[in-house]
Amino acid sequence: MKIIDRLKEDRINISFEVFPPKTEAGFDSVINAVNEIATLAPSFISVTYGAGGGTSRNTVHIASHIKHDLQVESLAHLTCASSTKEEVQRVISTLKEKGIENILALRGDIPNETEFPATSRYQYACELIKEIKENGNFCIGAACYPEGHVENEHKKDDIKYLKKKVDSGVDFLTTQMFFDNSILYNFLYRIREQDITVPVLPGIMPVTNGKQMKRICQLSGTVLPQRFKAIVDRFGDDPRAMQQAGIAYATDQIIDLIANGIENIHIYSMNKPEVAKAIMANLKEIIK
Ligand code: FAD
Repeated sequence: MKIIDRLKEDRINISFEVFPPKTEAGFDSVINAVNEIATLAPSFISVTYGAGGGTSRNTVHIASHIKHDLQVESLAHLTCASSTKEEVQRVISTLKEKGIENILALRGDIPNETEFPATSRYQYACELIKEIKENGNFCIGAACYPEGHVENEHKKDDIKYLKKKVDSGVDFLTTQMFFDNSILYNFLYRIREQDITVPVLPGIMPVTNGKQMKRICQLSGTVLPQRFKAIVDRFGDDPRAMQQAGIAYATDQIIDLIANGIENIHIYSMNKPEVAKAIMANLKEIIK
């Protein structure tokens, strides 16, 4: 099923994200985590994409397992900056052969080791989106950044390029993580004003490693509200307490989103079924 058709239904859609193992040795444990997350009957499970090599093969395998063996819809991420156009086209063909209907089309990080941009590579996600559209009947998602993409100095440019990306054939958007819902509401207001009307899935990150998250947020320019910083300062050295607090914080964000009329929410569950299960248990009377 195409995810966009699911998003059009009058219901609350909760989806989860997993990432493939870096080496073949980790494959079974990822599959076990995916199998457990699938028991929560999410609207879909997305599978991230690493830069080339074995990780990208695993994205296709895992997305196919989710769809065909677990009967849950899957969303395969696909990045283009670190591969040649030919390599990317091969992955699109494989996804088609495997019956994967949904792709999250991304540029990915700019590679350090090769010249970029180059004629042999797609420069922006919008170019990849056009390629996917020409090569199959896929439902296409793309990324957006409520706090602006880190490479853009001005938020205005970010929304201008987002509009161009959506117009190249995007069916829905998923946001980067954020920890202050008012940032999301403000972003939605600004993009709707620019006539970007596709569904936007807020991406919620349940933080289980507070100190690591503080560093990631500093790098990506994500605002850390004082309430969040206080939690990390108080519980960051106690993994179990931090996980419990991270789950409570994410639950709180989700309840506020639903209360404000947001019906589709993506949870960065990061191969942690126990976290996904705890959040769903917290929401059991809210999502019926
Ligand atoms: P683009 O949309 O191409 O944007 C990149 C930059 O270029 C932005 O600053 C944008 O404003 C600018 N830009 C875009 N179009 C134009 C244009 N036409 N002219 C000039 N400037 C332009 N990374 C992975 O490696 N694997 C994953 O699986 C993965 N999943 C992700 C999922 C989500 C929901 C999100 C939010 C991010 C994910 N990422 C992933 C990270 C992503 O690859 C990076 O954030 C990357 O730096 C940008 O990707 P993009 O698709 O948003 O790029």
